[in-house]
Amino acid sequence: MGNRELMYRDLAHIWHPCTQMKDHEFLPLIPIKKGKGVYLYDYEGNGYIDAISSWWVNLFGHSNEKINKKIEEQLKNLEHVIFAGFTHEPIIKLSERLTKITPSGLNRCFYADNGSSAVEVALKMSFHCHKNRGRTKPLFVSLTNSYHGETIGALSVGDVELYKDTYEEILIRSIQTPVPKDTSEDAAFEAAEKMEELFEKRNEEISALIIEPLVQCAGYMHMYHPVFIKKARELCDRYDIHLIADEIAVGFGRTGTMFACEQANVSPDFMCLSKGLTGGYLPLAVVLTKDEIYDAFYCDYNEYKAFLHSHSYTGNPLGCAAANAVLDIFEKENVLEKNLEKIEYISKKLDDFKKLPNVKEVRQTGMIAAVELKGYSPKERIGLRIYEYGLKNGVILRPLGHVIYFMPPYVINHEEIDKMLETAYQGIKNVIRS
Ligand SMILES: *Cc1c(COP(=O)(O)O)cnc(C)c1O
Repeated sequence: MGNRELMYRDLAHIWHPCTQMKDHEFLPLIPIKKGKGVYLYDYEGNGYIDAISSWWVNLFGHSNEKINKKIEEQLKNLEHVIFAGFTHEPIIKLSERLTKITPSGLNRCFYADNGSSAVEVALKMSFHCHKNRGRTKPLFVSLTNSYHGETIGALSVGDVELYKDTYEEILIRSIQTPVPKDTSEDAAFEAAEKMEELFEKRNEEISALIIEPLVQCAGYMHMYHPVFIKKARELCDRYDIHLIADEIAVGFGRTGTMFACEQANVSPDFMCLSKGLTGGYLPLAVVLTKDEIYDAFYCDYNEYKAFLHSHSYTGNPLGCAAANAVLDIFEKENVLEKNLEKIEYISKKLDDFKKLPNVKEVRQTGMIAAVELKGYSPKERIGLRIYEYGLKNGVILRPLGHVIYFMPPYVINHEEIDKMLETAYQGIKNVIRS
């Protein structure tokens, strides 16, 4: 069976995420038959470098033998079990490990099965914690240009118009404070001042501040200085506001350190993890929090303070086995150290892009790099044209508007980095000429 036939069968029934389905009248939908390492292969044998880690989830390549093996082993014993009243060894082990490697004090793990749900959990827990302590604080603060997922609560604290504006009337209460406008320290302090003004005025109403530490990925790979996180921590402490670090995209080494918060030496009250948690294999998410927050819910049943949130697939053992395999790889293979060399290599190669006349800025934080174009209106859909160019040349680039970015699996080698960047470079050059 070829690509086209599968595409038509798909389009007869399937509604895809984040897609204007009419685009597929001209844009081919690509059925993927298999993956190996950084490559994905379609049904006609064409290979594509997965430069976006399949929506930022993959860490150690597709069909990674070490992860496959751990999932297979787990499959022989237990595929799933209800997680209320029951538990299993993979999740106990995973929780012990996560509490050890995350910033200090994050000692309690609450599981869910996708990133948006983790954000919902953190928001609800924060609100509920204040309530259990006798204070009702119905407002959340997030940063301008932020993205935290697309369920109603998560969408409410996001600020990407494209996803949010339509639903304005049905969102929960949130306000945005400015994100630092660039990576300078000055910009971080300036934004922190604005946050301070807001907190001073409205702290009585605010349960939590939610941030994406260092990189707002869905927000066009916008990056800022770590000192902003430090300031946010100080202000949250001063005004009895929880700090939620949404490390769903940046966690597990993406920014160069295991977690982005480490670069500010900050421990949040809640940390949301998903995406890379299972190396891109299975849906799993976790919210880590502190003992003092856990304790605000811990009492006799009849005081009705328990956190009753639940998802059917909470703590799925196969997902936990994958997550443990991912942590094994981090432990045994010096991943973060090896990535430093790749980060450096990518950084050098990015210099070429700066010379192109339609490039506005090149930026990088760890294993995340972005090239921002200038001079195009949204209607031109310049990103789409570069996406199509990439596909024709064997690289999956999926620009965010006019921002071309690279977030490859960590197993990418120099030759593959060369091909990924060279293809993007030619793609960008190509849209100058036309
Ligand atoms: C992807 C993402 C989410 C949402 O996760 P899903 O699993 O897609 O629901 C939340 N926050 C950030 C920062 C993300 O990048």
